[in-house]
Amino acid sequence: MLKGKKGVIFGVANRHSLAWHIAKEAYAHGAELILGVANERFREKVAPLAAEVGAPEPVICDVTSDESILSTFHVIKDRMPELDFMVHAIAFANRQDLEGRFIDTDRYGYHVAQDVSAFSLAAMSREAEKMMKPGSSILTLTYIGSVRAVPNYNVMGVAKAALESSVRYLATDLGSEGIRVNALSAGPIKTLSSSGVKGLRDKLDQQAVKNPLHRNITGEDVGKSAVFLLSDYSSGVTGEVLYVDNGYHSCATWA
Ligand code: NAP
Repeated sequence: MLKGKKGVIFGVANRHSLAWHIAKEAYAHGAELILGVANERFREKVAPLAAEVGAPEPVICDVTSDESILSTFHVIKDRMPELDFMVHAIAFANRQDLEGRFIDTDRYGYHVAQDVSAFSLAAMSREAEKMMKPGSSILTLTYIGSVRAVPNYNVMGVAKAALESSVRYLATDLGSEGIRVNALSAGPIKTLSSSGVKGLRDKLDQQAVKNPLHRNITGEDVGKSAVFLLSDYSSGVTGEVLYVDNGYHSCATWA
């Protein structure tokens, strides 16, 4: 499904990362990849994973820095002059803001969550656009906490609402160039960042029962749907949020 396509996938921290599951499926479907990490420490940790999917040493991009975003895309351009897709699987909020009451979030905590988790998509899409041609695809990762008040998800839910809105505006901006922009809303999966949300274990237990498929979502589920959204098989889909959550969002009272 991705044979002959070249893409960059940001947000690989380890083997549990959703970005890693997407990278594995994209590689299995023929894509040529570059992986992106946040800092030098993760570059070393992720380098062996990059090798597994035929990618060179990961590029470093700290999305809180305009200079870092610019220099990262320069490096990508040297290695891959044209991009067919970009995956943005990046989010961050202070740990203390992922428990208790949303009302207690301070200005800095609100700002950092928005900056890393939402604004970065627009900033990175602006650079990716310069390397993309018609038929290209941009994908980000979101969660149902954007449209429902999920206990403890708090400021990240507000950031995900901004992210999903950004997807619609970016899809409008880039549509005239034939570039599609979508979000994949995944059910809860244990990863480094989701472990920072208090009560994740309970959410997993609940969702395993309270969804039509009676099981938790897997990284493979996410990777396969991501390949669809990155491929020409979704050529008419843009500005969309695709739920990959075993139907939980539409059957929340399923028992
Ligand atoms: P993860 O493995 O911890 O990935 C999060 C990534 O964000 C990490 O690679 C992290 O890099 C990166 N990041 C954080 N701050 C950054 C910065 N300033 N610059 C660049 N990168 C930065 O967790 P994940 O669960 O796979 O998360 C990936 C995406 O999926 C997120 O958007 C998340 O909200 C979304 N999502 C997750 C779930 C779930 O249940 N796991 C469900 C729905 C949506 P470092 O580790 O190097 O800081």
